[in-house]
Amino acid sequence: MIKKTTPQINKGVATPKSINTSFVRKRKKVLSVDTIVQGILAGNRLMLSKAITLIESTKPAHQTKAQAIINLCLPHSGNAFRLGITGSPGVGKSTFIETFGQFAIQENKQIAVLAVDPTSQISKGSILGDKTRMMHLSTHSKAFIRPSPAGNSLGGVARKTRETIILCEAAGFDLIIIETVGVGQSEIAVHSMVDFFLLLLLPGGGDELQGIKKGIVEMADLIAINKADGENATKAKQSKSAYRNALHLLPPQESQWIPKVTTCSGLANIGMEEIWKQLVLFKKLTKENNFFIKNRKSQAAYWLHETIQNQLKQLFYDNPTIKAALKITEEKILAEELSPFQGAEDLMKLFKS
Ligand code: GDP
Repeated sequence: MIKKTTPQINKGVATPKSINTSFVRKRKKVLSVDTIVQGILAGNRLMLSKAITLIESTKPAHQTKAQAIINLCLPHSGNAFRLGITGSPGVGKSTFIETFGQFAIQENKQIAVLAVDPTSQISKGSILGDKTRMMHLSTHSKAFIRPSPAGNSLGGVARKTRETIILCEAAGFDLIIIETVGVGQSEIAVHSMVDFFLLLLLPGGGDELQGIKKGIVEMADLIAINKADGENATKAKQSKSAYRNALHLLPPQESQWIPKVTTCSGLANIGMEEIWKQLVLFKKLTKENNFFIKNRKSQAAYWLHETIQNQLKQLFYDNPTIKAALKITEEKILAEELSPFQGAEDLMKLFKS
């Protein structure tokens, strides 16, 4: 039946010879900055995705276009609440975001989930994973999920995510979740781009830091002991009081916010309301005492310097003269013919000449 009708349909819709299909296809691909920006401001996901792809591209022409888009989106950004979430692999971040994200949608928010995972390039399979994550959220009309940009430097990956936040906000998302893994420097980068930092931990002793550096605990505005379900519930409660005691020992925060500890379960949908309540309280306090805006401003200054430093570094290492000289200098240092400091000075002189 189908076989019989298909040729007839093809015949009817055949492209007239006068239309140059390659031209049509080409026109579809190259969108102007204005078209993309208008699309983003209208909340068009496809345009948002295209713009993020430009941000992530290494081609200079794409980067120029991306910067133009960001500049035009900037006046329309800044209105979202930016929530950072960190925790060791397996602590339950994606399960938590899946549940918490749906809670936020019920609270009338549109949410974007971004990630900073500099390991994805090295390990090929990212820690924040290609595994099917956030199944419900990823198909929800009020959610937008974008995996971590690829890149071999944390600075580059983080900058791209920072820029993506601007676009997502311009597109009307009012809760931006930025996820990262609690295994390295990436928390510092994420902490410097969010309003609120949530650390997920597993039920366990309060003393052991579960492979998480103490500095990360100090950055947290809220610690949530996750997987507080079933047999783990009691253990989670014990952890909660242990961490609460530990947090008392930390110096007061500039925000005047006292970091909280709570328990939750992404899998069993427990504790979402309490976490939501803490975000609301934090926002209220820091808007009233002006920390919210002050923090955003100092973050902007931080990203200015970060970006300059990264670009200077790139300029140096991409320089063909330096590339050749660096190899020779390295060999001399390994052969103990040259000190690393003298080597650096010689290369800098060469770079500046
Ligand atoms: P991620 O690596 O931090 O993103 O962690 P996942 O969300 O992928 O979860 C890792 C494993 O822990 C999976 O097998 C989940 O089913 C399980 N898990 C996640 N959240 C919970 C939870 O709240 N309770 C329990 N019992 N298991 C969970």
